[in-house]
Amino acid sequence: MKDKKIIAYKNERTKKIAFNLRRLIVRAVMDEWMKLLREKKNKPMFECVRIENVRSDLYGALQASICECSSCRDTDDDMEYNAALREWYCTQCAQEYRDYYHKEKEIYGDHYGKVHDDEDFYESFL
Ligand SMILES: [Zn+2]
Repeated sequence: MKDKKIIAYKNERTKKIAFNLRRLIVRAVMDEWMKLLREKKNKPMFECVRIENVRSDLYGALQASICECSSCRDTDDDMEYNAALREWYCTQCAQEYRDYYHKEKEIYGDHYGKVHDDEDFYESFL
């Protein structure tokens, strides 16, 4: 098993502050994301493309951040970094992906890759 980088706050007060900060950052990013969407209205095509690129970068940065799980969008959980995907997942989602992979591997064995096209994704959680 690879080394896993897990952020788990033991102190309840620190945990509450971190989770509140995550929610605040997610809200600020999404507010800006929606503001940019409104700014697109009645703009020339090249300006719309520029704004959409900024929105895409903003969303990508949020998705790569520890602020929310890349799968379930939860902000209030311990987070595990997936270095292969360069994204953070809550420990529950990461475990569910591991469990699913092991279960499917038990069923299909060496034929897993012939039945699924997502083996790299699931293996990145092992
Ligand atoms: Zn999750």
